[in-house]
Amino acid sequence: MTQWIDVRSDTVTHPTPAMRAAMANAPVGDDVYGDDPTVAALEQRAAEVLGKDAALFVPTGTFGNQLALFTHCDQGDEVIAGEDSHIVWHEVGAASVIAGVNLRPIPAPRGVLAPDEIRRRIRPAGDIHLPHTRLLCLENAYSGGQVVSVADSAAAWDVAQEAGLKVHLDGARLFNAAAALDVPARDIARFADSVMFCLSKGLAAPVGSMLVGEAGFIEIARKKRKLMGGGLRQAGVLAAPGLIALNEMSQRLGEDHANARLLAQHLGDIRGIEINEEALDINMVWFRLTAPVDVDALMAGLLARGIKANPPEQGLMRLVTHWQVGKTEVARIADAFEALLAA
Ligand SMILES: *Cc1c(COP(=O)(O)O)cnc(C)c1O
Repeated sequence: MTQWIDVRSDTVTHPTPAMRAAMANAPVGDDVYGDDPTVAALEQRAAEVLGKDAALFVPTGTFGNQLALFTHCDQGDEVIAGEDSHIVWHEVGAASVIAGVNLRPIPAPRGVLAPDEIRRRIRPAGDIHLPHTRLLCLENAYSGGQVVSVADSAAAWDVAQEAGLKVHLDGARLFNAAAALDVPARDIARFADSVMFCLSKGLAAPVGSMLVGEAGFIEIARKKRKLMGGGLRQAGVLAAPGLIALNEMSQRLGEDHANARLLAQHLGDIRGIEINEEALDINMVWFRLTAPVDVDALMAGLLARGIKANPPEQGLMRLVTHWQVGKTEVARIADAFEALLAA
């Protein structure tokens, strides 16, 4: 089988050999009965790492985010979120279908929801025409490849506290953010009532995300997860690699970030490539093709060299590093771009 270099995303990561062994040997039970010891261990560990009461294993990040909205809000409530956030852009409009809420998208340059921008969107109480602003959604790391500082997270949290809003953090790549900021994940999670993070991206588990929060919140979410069809049975085989993701893979994300910067450095030396230096906080490299390029030929050339990448969108390309992309692969990618853009 061809050994692909796959830089389309960090969702493409395969489970590590240790994960496969753990899957084979995981003690399991029916988790809807609360009988799966491996799921219980993962949920307990996730809560502990994030400094919260409790956690819930969910099938996907989208599921976890939507379950959070569904649990925090009543139908007709309003949710403030960054206009480019995953919840607004990439969750198929689920907020209107499942929680039945109104999304209020606001500008979020580099993923930062500025206090004044939030404050201006909070609906005053007492007017029967207005929806109830209930929830603020933050995203960190931001899917544009940027990390929001602890100070900016705290500032958004403070506005929510003043106004009596709950805060949900879409932390699909929370551990990338923590590694980039060089703080424990709980220092970011502190500024949210609930947090979703993905086990299945750079942390390399095959499936799964966690929703973390207060005990009472998670208790309601557990019932609503069942409503959404997310009550899994012998899910210990999925929780076992999740534990390795959380305990071990979270500790090595700095390597992916360093490899992304290395790749950016090599690509930046190539004529016709302009790196977005503002979006190099985590494991993503964003760049613009500045010369006219035959995109189909470029993509075919990459594929012929064993490299899977997503084509540019509006001239902008994104490559993502992960545990299966080391220094050798970085060099091969840079060489391929150099050859193909020279052609
Ligand atoms: C990937 C991602 C999600 C959703 O995760 P899925 O498991 O693909 O549903 C949510 N938010 C952000 C910021 C993401 O990058």
